[in-house]
Parts: sequence; structure tokens; C-alpha cells
Amino acid sequence: MMPSNRSILRLNIVPVKGCPKLMFNGPCGGGSGNVCEVTRSKCPWIELFRRDSGNNLFTHIVLDKGFKIQDYSPRPRKPQSKLLKKLSDGKNVLTYEFVFGIKASQNSLGDSLHRLSTIYDAVNFIDTPLGLPHTDPLALAILAKNYGIEPVVQLSCKDKSRNYLVSYILALMLHEIPNMLAITGDWIHLGGDKSPRPVFDLDSIRLIYLARLMSDLGIDYRGRRIEGHRVIHVGAATNPYFDPFELEVLRVRKKYLAGAEFLVTQPLFHANIFRNFINALRENNINIPVIASVIFLKDKKTLKLLEDFARVRVSEDYVEALSRGEDKLTNFIVNLAEELVVNGASGIHVLTMGNVEVALTLGKIIRERIL
Ligand code: SF4
Repeated sequence: MMPSNRSILRLNIVPVKGCPKLMFNGPCGGGSGNVCEVTRSKCPWIELFRRDSGNNLFTHIVLDKGFKIQDYSPRPRKPQSKLLKKLSDGKNVLTYEFVFGIKASQNSLGDSLHRLSTIYDAVNFIDTPLGLPHTDPLALAILAKNYGIEPVVQLSCKDKSRNYLVSYILALMLHEIPNMLAITGDWIHLGGDKSPRPVFDLDSIRLIYLARLMSDLGIDYRGRRIEGHRVIHVGAATNPYFDPFELEVLRVRKKYLAGAEFLVTQPLFHANIFRNFINALRENNINIPVIASVIFLKDKKTLKLLEDFARVRVSEDYVEALSRGEDKLTNFIVNLAEELVVNGASGIHVLTMGNVEVALTLGKIIRERIL
């Protein structure tokens, strides 16, 4: 489906009352199941969807009054990054989510990046999940390039005004970072510390639109010109477990129309859920590559946290494999990855919560057996 100018709305005020993140484009990922991750009450966006699923707010890209450029329709672009070239050639990709929290040691960082570069097509550097401090993803991405890694920098709206987001995208351009992943981000108190003051100026859909304005046209949200702008490919996140499912498909459609060029899923545990998701995208003419995530976790307690925060559903088969040891779990994940590719995934994204040794083992097996 080609994006259309008519798919954009501009509003002067926040369209739905009672949303702590001030979303303009539907619920954040933390509303799945209709329990707001912040208030623990019903999410007003999902309530609205239940009353009026055809509302323009769900079918149109919604910009706020700060966006002076309201009629841009991003088109497919010639791929400039290795990741996008491979995806557009119909080849499956293998990517990894690198976690480098406040306690991570910098001693073996270079060695880890070098070894990951031998297995993975690209590495995604995350942006302060749950509001917990992590090394800045751009700093890691610059370092990673020196070790031969193609980076994907995650850029979260959380904690950033739109001018900070513009500045950050300028920095991505300056350092020739070829890919970014635009997300809204978690409520920053979810990590347990209630002292920081939350900032949510944009949501992921407006961020995607902003990134395409800057990257394609060389202008920011106010129309200010950027000299020497360059292509940054823009990805978006999605959760095939999101409830209501039809609402997630509409949100993906908006991300696609706003200019997203690839999707990365939340961790998956069921191939049939993913198949339904891919079928729904096809039925709605959303023609975008989807990189399916698999996760290796060592303990059941973290699985519970994952269900609570990422709003996914862990399968009984996964729990059983986990209880039978690392080899069984590795085997389960590799088989799942194979099924996901058979069911339409354009690649596999591996999460190991910072365990690089497991990432190397798992990545090697997936590459040899599947990709
Ligand atoms: S779940 Fe997200 S979108 Fe819904 S009210 Fe809470 S913060 Fe807003």
C-alpha cells in the first residue's frame, strides 16, 4: 500500500484524556490486555477502540501542532545499509540485541563486539529499557563500527523532547549510523526508581515521521533545513501478542505509512501467533519485512518479568525446555526460529539479556541450520 497524504491528521491537543504518555497515535505497547503499565487502570485508547474501532485516530497518522510539515508521504527508498540491502533482496538476516547496563564491564567489550561481528548481520543497541541507565546506544554503535558491526541504534521517545530527538538523529547522521529503531519507550518508573520526572513529547509514529522528514527531505518538524542530511533506515517495534490484535495491526499500518522500513517483534514463543500476524499484514497490504525475535533466558523468574513488561505470552513448551537445561532450551529456540522463518519472518533477532557467549553459540547454530 502506498502512503497517502490523506492519511495524516493534525491535532492541537492530546486526542485521548487520561494517557500518562500523552500518546497521539493509539496505545503504547504497555497497554496490551487493557491494563495501563502506568496507572494499572483501563487504557483509554483501548476503551476508545472498543467503542469506535473505525475512528480516524486509528486509521490516520496523527501529528501535533508542532509539526509544520504535515503532508509528507514517505516512499520506499533504495537500500543504503547492509541490513536493508539484504532484506530487500529477500535474504534472511540475523541480528542481535546488545545489552550493556550500568554493571556491565568495559574490559571485554571490544572482544565481544569483534566476535559478534563474525556471526551477526547487524547489532541493535538498546535505549535505557524500563528507564534504567545503560550506556548510550550511539556511543556503543560508534565503537561497534570499528569492530566491523553494522549498528541499529534504538531511539526511544522516553526522556527526550522533540528537539533532543532531532539533535540525536543529527548525531546519527554525523556518525553515519545507517539504521535506527524508533520506539515510544517504557514508563521510566517501571524499573523501580520513582524519582526521575517522565518526559514523553512524541510517540513512535511521530518519531518515525520526523526521522523520514530529516533523512529524506533534510528538514526537521518545523521545516528547519539540515545541511548534509543522509539516509538512515527506520525500523519499528511490534508485538504480535498485543491484545486487541486488530489494534496492533492498525498501529503497524500507521508505522508503515509514517515511513518504517522494517519491523522487529517482541520475543516470540508461538509460531502460530506469528503466522496469524504475518497473514494479517498481508491482508492489509502492509508490505514490510518482519524480523522475528527469539529469547534465551536462564530462569523462570525473568520469564515472569518478561510477560509483565513486554506483554508477551511464554509457552509451556519453552518453560519445559528451560527446566531441562541449556542444550534443550537452545534446541527449542533454534526449532522455533526455523518455524518463524518458514512462516514468513525475514530474519531472526536474538536476545540473551547480555549473555554474549550464549549469543555466539545460538547465532552460529541458527546461521548454519536456518539462514
Ligand atoms: S497503556 Fe500506554 S497508551 Fe494506554 S493509557 Fe497507559 S500509557 Fe497511555
